[in-house]
Amino acid sequence: MEEDILPNQYKNIVTLFSKSKDELQYPRITIETRTGLDIVFSFWFNGKGNEVVSVKGRSGDYQVDYGQIHNGNWYKKNNPNKKIIALVDILNSNPGKLIRESSEIEGKCCFCRKELTDEHSTNVGFGRTCAENWGLLRIWKKE
Ligand SMILES: [Zn+2]
Repeated sequence: MEEDILPNQYKNIVTLFSKSKDELQYPRITIETRTGLDIVFSFWFNGKGNEVVSVKGRSGDYQVDYGQIHNGNWYKKNNPNKKIIALVDILNSNPGKLIRESSEIEGKCCFCRKELTDEHSTNVGFGRTCAENWGLLRIWKKE
């Protein structure tokens, strides 16, 4: 175990997935950056039936596995740089702001990657169907 791990530090990221995992087979969140590197968070059950969120960096054909969030802890791989760590921290502490800013780069839903067309969706960074699947309809309607 790495020494900088705080207990349950990333539990909010796991909580983000709590509704979607009942609705979708492969729930994922894509955070875009202005440098063209996307950070993709995907939820799955590992061989022991534990809930895991994998963290991957993706840019064109390039893909890096930055490890897994499990029991609220991020077990890092491949030395994510400070910018990547900061993005993961912000998704955990202020997901609404990060998702909105990320979606402004290409105008796509952070969950399903479809183009955002109406004003509610562009204001929050995800579309109506995804709002329902992720338990975020109230937030979507409010914007
Ligand atoms: Zn969507």
